[in-house]
Formats: sequence, structure tokens, C-alpha cells
Amino acid sequence: MKSNKAVVKMMNPQGQDGTIAPLITELIAQLGEDPKRDGLVRTPQRVDKAMRFLTSGYQMKLEQILNGALYEVKYDEMVVVKDIEFFSLCEHHMLPFYGKMHVAYLPQKKVIGLSKIPRIVDMFARRLQIQERLTQEVAQTVQQVIEPLGVGVICEARHFCMMMRGVEKQHSGAMTSAMLGAFRDCKETRDEFLALVNHRSNGY
Ligand SMILES: [Zn+2]
Repeated sequence: MKSNKAVVKMMNPQGQDGTIAPLITELIAQLGEDPKRDGLVRTPQRVDKAMRFLTSGYQMKLEQILNGALYEVKYDEMVVVKDIEFFSLCEHHMLPFYGKMHVAYLPQKKVIGLSKIPRIVDMFARRLQIQERLTQEVAQTVQQVIEPLGVGVICEARHFCMMMRGVEKQHSGAMTSAMLGAFRDCKETRDEFLALVNHRSNGY
């Protein structure tokens, strides 16, 4: 019934440090390795820590991230934050996918501190994810927080579950986008965003 135990821990984001470690010991044994071998003795504790960090987005609170960094402005030109690096875990294999996100919005009356957008990306990336939902969640959160005229998000990522398992190697890079408000309705706005982003962004 070990798998049941694992599920319970997954459902409990407040789980205490160290509680994942015994599951990793079992996993190592199940893989045919010796968990007591020198190099592996501390591995369960390390994986415990790493997994908690890689999924720490569940613990993040939007209000804490924003911390009042919303400003009233008259500025009505597009704001673009490009090349936001992110690392996430695919929820189907729990293997990494990583890449870059480009986030833009068209302010109405508020702007947000620029450093906050990468933190919003981290909040959703550091979870078990799929790229499509990650892209949507970032867009919808920016929309909800800033109430701009529109939001555009483009996400370029590479997936280890495809790269390492030898499936669709040629297509291990995927692009997703979410266009809200003016970015969806107005071709000029969308084109302006795409032009700004396409300018040197084919690394993924
Ligand atoms: Zn996967």
C-alpha cells in the first residue's frame, strides 16, 4: 500500500520535510539499486529537498509575491517582459520541461513591478504542470491582477519526457500561447507583441 501513502503526501502540500525521503528509498530499491550504497545513502534526503523546491509554487501566495507592487499610471503602451526562464515538471512523467516565457500586457490604469512577472511565472512553473495550462495560468493571473486591456503570453519549452525517452525527438520543443482581451481581438496588438518576441527567440 506504499503507493497510497505517496498519494496522501502529494495531496498534502504542507507535508513536513523528510517525509518524501522514505518513498525515494523505496523507489531506488524498486529500480534494482541498493539504497544503502555509499553514493545513494543521502540521496532520498536530497531528492526530498529538491522535489519540495521544484514544487514550491503550491506554497506561494499571490498577495505575497505582489506585495503592493501595483502602480497607477497613465502609461498605455505595451509592456513586454521577454525571455523569462522557467523550469517545471510535466505532470505526466514528473520529468522537467523548461524554456522561456514572454509576457506582455497593455495597461489600462495599473502597471506591476517588472520583477513580479517572473515570480508569477515561477509560482505556476514550480508545480506539476502541462505547458498549456502553465501558459494560461500566467496569462489569467496577470489579467486578474493588473486588469489591463489585454495580456499575451508565449511559452517555448523543451520536454525531457520526450527528449530522454526517445519519442518524437524532433518535436521535443513546443510552443504555446495565451491571448486575452486586446491581444486576442486586435491583430495589430498581437502583431506588435509577436514582432517584439520573434526578434531573436528561437533558442528553444
Ligand atoms: Zn511528460
